[in-house]
Amino acid sequence: MAVPLFATTLEPHMPAIAERLAAVARGGRYILGPEVEAFEAELAEQLGVRHAIGVANGTDALAIALRALGVEPGDEVVCPSFTFYATVEATASIGAIPVYCDVDPETMCVTAETVRAAITPRTKAIVAVHLFGNVAPVPELRELGLPVLEDAAQATGARLGDVRAGALGDAATFSFFPSKNLPCLGDGGAVTTDDDAVAQRVRRLRFHGSDDKKTFVEVGYNSRLDELQAAVLRLLLPELDGWNAARRAAADRYAAGGLGDHVALPAPVAGAEHVHHLYVVRSDRADELAAALAAQGIGARGYYRTPIHLQPATAGFAPAGLELPGTELAARTHLALPMGPELTAAQVDETVAAVAAALG
Ligand SMILES: *Cc1c(COP(=O)(O)O)cnc(C)c1O
Repeated sequence: MAVPLFATTLEPHMPAIAERLAAVARGGRYILGPEVEAFEAELAEQLGVRHAIGVANGTDALAIALRALGVEPGDEVVCPSFTFYATVEATASIGAIPVYCDVDPETMCVTAETVRAAITPRTKAIVAVHLFGNVAPVPELRELGLPVLEDAAQATGARLGDVRAGALGDAATFSFFPSKNLPCLGDGGAVTTDDDAVAQRVRRLRFHGSDDKKTFVEVGYNSRLDELQAAVLRLLLPELDGWNAARRAAADRYAAGGLGDHVALPAPVAGAEHVHHLYVVRSDRADELAAALAAQGIGARGYYRTPIHLQPATAGFAPAGLELPGTELAARTHLALPMGPELTAAQVDETVAAVAAALG
């Protein structure tokens, strides 16, 4: 039996989605209308934040949120190197200088220690990436005394203690790219914050730097969440917690099935409720394991083999001789195994058996 890397489907929701899309299409409001406004209120309510602002994608969300937090060209922003490229790309796109910090190779998230090592007098903000659905230790990062932006693109719905990702930092960003935990049918994103002034600046920046569509007070972006995507997101938001619970149940079955005898299992940050956007294990034989699983039709993939401080576009931000041992270890050993709300017990068991056979 083939086991897909992404075990998700929107099929049961397609009739309702088609109906809502047709209604919005006929309604004639496509940009910043009632669907976006209602989704923003519903997302804010579910995450426990004062403001959620829809934008075009998770990359724009990062650039806009950093600017709204006061980051200006030439300012330094501490970012992990072990993340999706967009975290660093968005930082560089506003003229800020990404300063790479290391990650804990077990949680694959930044820590107060790794961030502190990258702070200088020019540091203006910290980007904490909730990688793979884990939740970075934001309360400890805030004690460092700088604004903390959560990159929650991979962690929609996750919690640290009782607090949702998105309500932990000074602001947070989300992506609704089709493979993320809360998907739409294309690109979409959001910024969340409890700060009224930050929220107002995000709303201005997403609309060409204008509050009233007549006076343009700063150079901004055309970066709105579409009404059509917001309508889809309103239908799917009520499914999010159930989907994340199903991901966690699959992770529990991997562990109970003995997967940890063969590879290192995902390690939640202390107090985190991991939502397993990707189910990422670690092995010194990661590539060999991926090939063995592929030969049996089981999806497996290393996502960030080359971390961002070694990528052609962004290596120039790394000082000569930069050593990030946690990043290098995670980059070399991580491997995503099949995950998703639709992953069956039989598929988990088959994957565990295939891993055992490949490494045994
Ligand atoms: C997906 C992702 C983004 C970017 O989101 P897009 O909507 O694709 O622009 C940013 N950061 C992380 C960690 C991501 O996984």
